[in-house]
Amino acid sequence: MDALQEHTINFSGLSDGEHEFRFQLEQDFFDAAGEDDLEGGSLSVNVSLDKSPTLIVVNLHMTGPVALRCDRCNGPLELPVDGKQRQIFRFTTDEEYDDDELVGLDPSEHSINLTHYFYECLRLALPTRHVHTPGKCDPEVEQVLSKLIVENEPHPDPRWEILNELKTSSANGEKHKRP
Ligand SMILES: [Zn+2]
Repeated sequence: MDALQEHTINFSGLSDGEHEFRFQLEQDFFDAAGEDDLEGGSLSVNVSLDKSPTLIVVNLHMTGPVALRCDRCNGPLELPVDGKQRQIFRFTTDEEYDDDELVGLDPSEHSINLTHYFYECLRLALPTRHVHTPGKCDPEVEQVLSKLIVENEPHPDPRWEILNELKTSSANGEKHKRP
């Protein structure tokens, strides 16, 4: 997603050590995410930034409700989010620097933007399946779903079919034989 300007932390003026920041993610964040399933929400993010001459360690803690659609009935659904994530930035001139845990940061940089990490933290905090608690789905959809389940009931046990076949053939006075 595109970086939002208000999520930029200018660290060049900060002393070494820990600093606290607070962000509020509202509709503009969810619009910028451009994900159909994320309709909105209101998330508070506490950011602790630990600066040292070689590293910047950022710890995110995100809490608040997110508005989605239920995977089962497609009705509106609000899920509470409580997510934590750590991101470490390392000062390096190596442009190819790539590591799952560490992100390379040019020593001439003055700021970092956190929009992408907020988004990542949110995605990881959300369950893969978003559904209402049992019995809370849209009752109309629930009715249609229960009908579908009845119509799609599996065929009866095949052993019963064989038994039925045997009964019919003996009723017809035929000898039981297999083709
Ligand atoms: Zn539902």
